[in-house]
Amino acid sequence: MPDVLVAGAGPTGLMTAFELERAGLDVLVLERDADPATQSKALGLQPRSVEVLADRGLLAAIEPHVRAKLPAGHFSGLPIGYTGLPTRFPYQLGVEQAHVAAAIEARLRTPVLRGAAVTAVAQDDDGVTVTADGRDHRAGWLVAADGGHSTVRTLLGAAFPGTPARISLVVADVVLAAKPDGLADGWELPSSASGYLLPLSGGRYRTIVFGEEQQRLGRDVPVTAGELQRALTAAHGPGVEVGEVRWASRFGDAARQLERYRHGRVLFAGDAAHIHLPVGGQGLNLGLQDAVNLGWKLAAHVRGHAPAGLLDSYHGERHPVAARVLVSTRAQAVLGVPDPDAAAVREIVTGLLAVPEARHAVALEISGIGLTYPGTTGRATDVPAAPDGRAVLVGAALPEGWSDRVEARDGDVPRLVRPDGYVVWNGGPGLENALGKWLGQATTAPMRLA
Ligand SMILES: Cc1cc2nc3c(=O)[nH]c(=O)nc-3n(C[C@H](O)[C@H](O)[C@H](O)COP(=O)(O)OP(=O)(O)OC[C@H]3O[C@@H](n4cnc5c(N)ncnc54)[C@H](O)[C@@H]3O)c2cc1C
Repeated sequence: MPDVLVAGAGPTGLMTAFELERAGLDVLVLERDADPATQSKALGLQPRSVEVLADRGLLAAIEPHVRAKLPAGHFSGLPIGYTGLPTRFPYQLGVEQAHVAAAIEARLRTPVLRGAAVTAVAQDDDGVTVTADGRDHRAGWLVAADGGHSTVRTLLGAAFPGTPARISLVVADVVLAAKPDGLADGWELPSSASGYLLPLSGGRYRTIVFGEEQQRLGRDVPVTAGELQRALTAAHGPGVEVGEVRWASRFGDAARQLERYRHGRVLFAGDAAHIHLPVGGQGLNLGLQDAVNLGWKLAAHVRGHAPAGLLDSYHGERHPVAARVLVSTRAQAVLGVPDPDAAAVREIVTGLLAVPEARHAVALEISGIGLTYPGTTGRATDVPAAPDGRAVLVGAALPEGWSDRVEARDGDVPRLVRPDGYVVWNGGPGLENALGKWLGQATTAPMRLA
């Protein structure tokens, strides 16, 4: 029996499974779809995600698929330069989400169980029983990473307050029979204009359209080549011709977040816990950071050495982060409305973002580089993660009874670094307190037989 079941093999579920396995747990990922995803919603990784993937040795497998290193993010299409951010990776990686997911999946010990859609969840004092594809699976815990339409969320009746979609957009990957004049071959920052075209692998172009026709059509109406042709002609003129539609989907600006990320033995992560307009490119990154925050805490809890409250600190730390992203994406959506009042606000915001300090503050937020959690003093980018998911103590003697949870290293700058890379002690008094607060109690050394 696995320690943990994960529902959903999107980037969040896979990263959660990776983190849990790294910490020595047995994990089974249950995925509805029969085959790995070949289509990608997200096309970019923010700097903090790149740091985390590099730290775990996952970046090398992603790098061959990287199409661009974009030295900026954007806020509703307004460029936010990343140069000068305190990171080794002051850029967004332009890469299709499917390649990120595949790179993580390739490193899992236990293969993903595909064609296994979760249809029922029952929990009791000892564990969770999850029915998928008519079969029952039992484990101590379930991580629900089954996306924005989360079945687990519905099955549990979890409160998911927020606002419904008011605008309707279409994302599509098309092959063009004729390209408009001046279409760039390289990657640039996604524009916030309807009908932008970005080259993908295999001769496809990514477009997002949101004209008057999209607002009229219902969410379940299939996207046709004709609809895309009309939208692209409106954006580029008569020179563009849609040849083939490889993938298309409608989405909106609904903004919702779970009230509680933990429901007994079920923990929610990624889009299952929060949905918003994907403007600014933050959803995938939120999901990856959820996974990295949850993984070590759940692993410690399962192994029985988590200090009181550690598992619940997952909600405590991550809920405010996604709440802030919802604020950011709501604001960005308003700035994109084709309306004179919104245009006036956009003009003011454009002026504010020309002020270096203001731009830097937004860059820290969108890139994830500025993120800290209460009780931590930020990331330790020069302290590589321990391969087995332990915390790392640098430049100080490790007290007895912690080596199963802490890797001690030499170094000039004393620090205790959580398994997710955040610093919780910076030298001086208080090391034992920090160990106790984040990692539980020291184990008594086993007696050695002579
Ligand atoms: C058009 C668009 C563009 C975007 N661009 C960006 C971007 O540039 N940058 C960015 O950071 N984010 C972007 N996002 C958001 C990003 O794609 C999502 O936030 C990300 O996919 C979330 O990952 P996830 O693993 O939580 O969910 P998902 O990727 O949705 O994965 C959920 C998985 O669960 C599976 N599943 C569903 N139901 C069940 C079930 N009952 N049982 C088992 N498995 C199930 C699904 O098949 C899927 O594999 C974009 C989104 C859209 C729509």
